Amino acid sequence: MRKKILSLALVLALFASMCINAGALMFINGQFAEKWDDNSYQFGVKKGNGEYDMTDVINAQGGIDWFRHANGGMDSWERVYDMPDRAAAERKVAAMKAELEARYNVTIKIERAEHPLYLIWTLEELEAGMQSIPAPLVNAVKDKLSPKLTIRLLTKENEWDFVSGVYYSSANRIDIIYDEEHTIVHEYGHMLHTKFLDKKYGAGKLESMWTAKNRGVSYGYGYGYYDAGVFVTDYAATSYREDFADSFAYFILYKDEVLERRPNSAVADKMNYMQELLCSTFSLDASVFSGAAQPEPQPPAGATASPTNDSLTCDGAAQNPTVYKIGGSNYFKIRDVAAMLDGTGKQFAVGYDGQLKSVTATTGQGYAKQPGDLAGAPAGGNKTAEISSDTIYVNGEKVDAEVYKIDGSNYFKLRDLGKALDFYVGWSQERGVYIETDKSYS
Ligand SMILES: [Zn+2]
Repeated sequence: MRKKILSLALVLALFASMCINAGALMFINGQFAEKWDDNSYQFGVKKGNGEYDMTDVINAQGGIDWFRHANGGMDSWERVYDMPDRAAAERKVAAMKAELEARYNVTIKIERAEHPLYLIWTLEELEAGMQSIPAPLVNAVKDKLSPKLTIRLLTKENEWDFVSGVYYSSANRIDIIYDEEHTIVHEYGHMLHTKFLDKKYGAGKLESMWTAKNRGVSYGYGYGYYDAGVFVTDYAATSYREDFADSFAYFILYKDEVLERRPNSAVADKMNYMQELLCSTFSLDASVFSGAAQPEPQPPAGATASPTNDSLTCDGAAQNPTVYKIGGSNYFKIRDVAAMLDGTGKQFAVGYDGQLKSVTATTGQGYAKQPGDLAGAPAGGNKTAEISSDTIYVNGEKVDAEVYKIDGSNYFKLRDLGKALDFYVGWSQERGVYIETDKSYS
């Protein structure tokens, strides 16, 4: 067979860390999207109901070759459902690109003739990389760049090409050839180095301060430097600028691990020094770089919410909630969900706690449908959705959820509510989004 087949264990391990949200393209995630020699693609796919994982193959024309149940044994290939159409995937690419450009004040140039499903994966990797850089640092940088940062996504030239990214300082452009989270962070490190740190400290002075941490070891090609605890990777050992960029990437992605595993080493010194340089250059508090305290980068204030009438059933019965789509995910009112679940094993009451200034949900109690509940697709076209700091307390416990306020009402992701209130949310091509109350959230 021409395709490599992923083992189930690998599939499950990769999916374990994924986040799934409802929507037409919700199951696309490129954790193991791979391009094969014949220009076809294999994608990691998970259905919204979370029941099983599959891999798909898309041929060079964007058509489907075959499907496999990842949990159905190696030979149980069958067609399970249709992939979303190409136009829908293209719209998703355009929306993701626009969203990332606005959030990070960058220009993204897609110069790859790839299937749009592959581009979705690429943009997700880019987003994951950018999100790993603490928002206060990104925000301190993003409007000060001249010219504005351009991120160009190029096709990998050939399989022997090991260059995954390049930073061009005069154009202020990062080319990404091979997508992985590490690539953008490394190139971003080159950008910070050239555009900010060299200017603050003087290029020559910074170089001598940095290389003084090398404990007498010189740069050069060769392996084994990493083991000596002088450089974060063997690649970092090749030159001062690569050392700096790779140290930045390690500082962002694995600082705590490096400090724990190599205390008192040169690499530990570099992690601490990197923090010092960034904090003083950008007036940041060191807590910005401590893993636990990293604030999530916020979507731009005033995201666009579009009314949607995607189908939704509860225990097989069609429902008519008011739903807005924001950034590809559907958002619901908690009272609509309470009205749908009333009378089922997953029913819950909705109240308001004046002291907590918060909506409360109490499981096991019924809910009396109010005027305005389950009123269907909202009129009035697109609205502006503001990130809401409101939350809900379920049985007295505060729930972590992404909440948007639209026209004064709070909207939640259905899966966040499913998780907090333990009802099952699934998705399939035939059924759309569905709730089942005889099952737990999974
Ligand atoms: Zn580099």
